[in-house]
Amino acid sequence: MIPEFDHPTFRLAVAQFDRVAEAMNLETNLRERLKKPQRSLLVALPIRMDDGHVRVFQGYRVQHDSARGPSKGGLRYHQDVTLGEVAALAMWMTWKTALAGLPYGGAKGGIQVDPHTLSLAELERLTRRYAAEIFPLIGPDKDIPATDIGTNQQVMAWFMDTYSQQVGFSVPGAVTGKPLSIGGSLGREEATGRGVVNVTIEALRHKKIDIEETSVVIQGFGNVGSHTAKIFNDAGARVIGISDVRGGIFNPKGLPIAEIYQRHRLGVPLQDMNVGDRLTNDELLALECTVLIPAALSEQITGDNAERLRCRILAEAANGPTTLEADAILDDRDVFIIPDILANSGGVIVSYFEWVQDVQRFFWNESDIRQRLQEIITAAFHRTLHFAEEKKTTMRMAALMNGIDQVAQAHTARGLYP
Ligand code: NAD
Repeated sequence: MIPEFDHPTFRLAVAQFDRVAEAMNLETNLRERLKKPQRSLLVALPIRMDDGHVRVFQGYRVQHDSARGPSKGGLRYHQDVTLGEVAALAMWMTWKTALAGLPYGGAKGGIQVDPHTLSLAELERLTRRYAAEIFPLIGPDKDIPATDIGTNQQVMAWFMDTYSQQVGFSVPGAVTGKPLSIGGSLGREEATGRGVVNVTIEALRHKKIDIEETSVVIQGFGNVGSHTAKIFNDAGARVIGISDVRGGIFNPKGLPIAEIYQRHRLGVPLQDMNVGDRLTNDELLALECTVLIPAALSEQITGDNAERLRCRILAEAANGPTTLEADAILDDRDVFIIPDILANSGGVIVSYFEWVQDVQRFFWNESDIRQRLQEIITAAFHRTLHFAEEKKTTMRMAALMNGIDQVAQAHTARGLYP
């Protein structure tokens, strides 16, 4: 491994890949090629802060693979982002787009910054400088960024505008997750959460559990966690625990999610809402529930806490929330895992719809979007389940094998240049 990539999340992604490549008997040359990201860019981002001094931030864009089409992946603004973490997330995007059957490769970007410490004007300058620095790599036919932790529609709007200024005309298809007014798609903001609920409902059916009998615990109440909570609540499940970086709240009778969602949007911290008992993130993960949904950072469920989980289904909304040690423990305990590259693929599926609409200049209504999302993600769930049952393997192995096989086929068909 190149030392610059060395990071626990990249080691996890590579270890998963090695295991799957071995089980698939993947050709040696493909193993070597798919383990190394195709293209990685490091950028220094000098930004004039509001008080006049200049601070230099570190930014990254990694394109893991583009054999099946332009690469696609979000932008993460977080103080702990590293090249290795971005590379791992890019690799997972490659398998995820392939598993869903989207004509994309995988990429990811990031800036080492806590966006909450910047003013809006500083955040805009940082985003625009980043977009300008990675400009040579991106574009609707090359590599298309989207939202991830710490980024939102406004960041995507600045990104799209900067890209468009560079080429001299408007290019809505350069990013996804934009506001509707500049070519965003209906249903994109909630898409990852909606996809998580779609596949979890399929898993509940498979386990013959009624939605009314289902209790849900969610770690993380950002874009993905909050929409997952709202959609699950609307579908009739009881959301009993939620958290953010400061900690969580718990009410065994069910939390008033609609009220929490509104107040959280106004900036009220979860723990100040007086709607349930306070608890730590560690305690939240150990709550007894039907479905546990990590929707925050990676490596939250580890060899240290996996024994304490008391859920029947683990739906991985976050990317890479479960370590290999935890995976083995949960398999032994018969927890049904809906792996990240399947569970959270609703986001990239509707991003694909957004890009298609932008490129065609023809926009769909929300019910079309919901229906097509459900069709694609439900089909991916059943393909994965069928494969897992047939090959007597786990859902994670089945999903990865399926995705990696699509990518391997594309490489074999294209051959090796020169
Ligand atoms: P976000 O920034 O909107 O929200 C992140 C949430 O996690 C916040 O509530 C934050 O307080 C919480 N959090 C941060 N650190 C935490 C910690 N140590 N413990 C508990 N909670 C913590 O980000 P998001 O877009 O909702 O992304 C969440 C996860 O979902 C990430 O793993 C991301 O890669 C994945 N994901 C996002 C999308 C998308 O469309 N946004 C798509 C696929 C996967």
